[in-house]
Amino acid sequence: MAEEQLRLEIVTPDSTVLSEEVGYVGVPGAVGQFGVMKNHIPFLSALAIGSLYYRKDGKNEYVFLSGGFAEVSPHSVSILAESAERPEEIDVQRARQAKERAEERLRQQQEQVDTARAEAALKRAIQRITLGEQAGSSR
Ligand code: ATP
Repeated sequence: MAEEQLRLEIVTPDSTVLSEEVGYVGVPGAVGQFGVMKNHIPFLSALAIGSLYYRKDGKNEYVFLSGGFAEVSPHSVSILAESAERPEEIDVQRARQAKERAEERLRQQQEQVDTARAEAALKRAIQRITLGEQAGSSR
């Protein structure tokens, strides 16, 4: 039997990144990954830096999310993300440079370095590189 569909919307302060009918959705929640299918009970969750995936036409599709919130209802999942990119939109070279900058800051161990900020930048960069490289190798 075909999987029941629910609406997945991903918006950022800049744009609507995605608005589609999809099957299962895997979301990087702040306290761990969670899965959503149609008719899920309503709830809200903060998001971690990570990758969301959803099933569409029998394939898993991925979207990078850099934190934000998810609102789940029986018929939809709405993601309000600080930033969101499909794998093919990721500039891997830029992410590698961001990774180097973050690693350099963390190496410095100076008082003026905001460690939490540098660690978050490093996480974003590593996730983008992982997803962007997968897109590059499957093209
Ligand atoms: P950078 O230091 O390279 O700006 P960052 O992690 O600080 O990286 P963000 O604050 O997460 O960047 O994002 C700022 C904007 O730039 C967002 O619109 C985001 O989608 C975009 N962006 C950041 N890095 C990349 C990338 N590697 N490829 C594509 N878009 C990116």
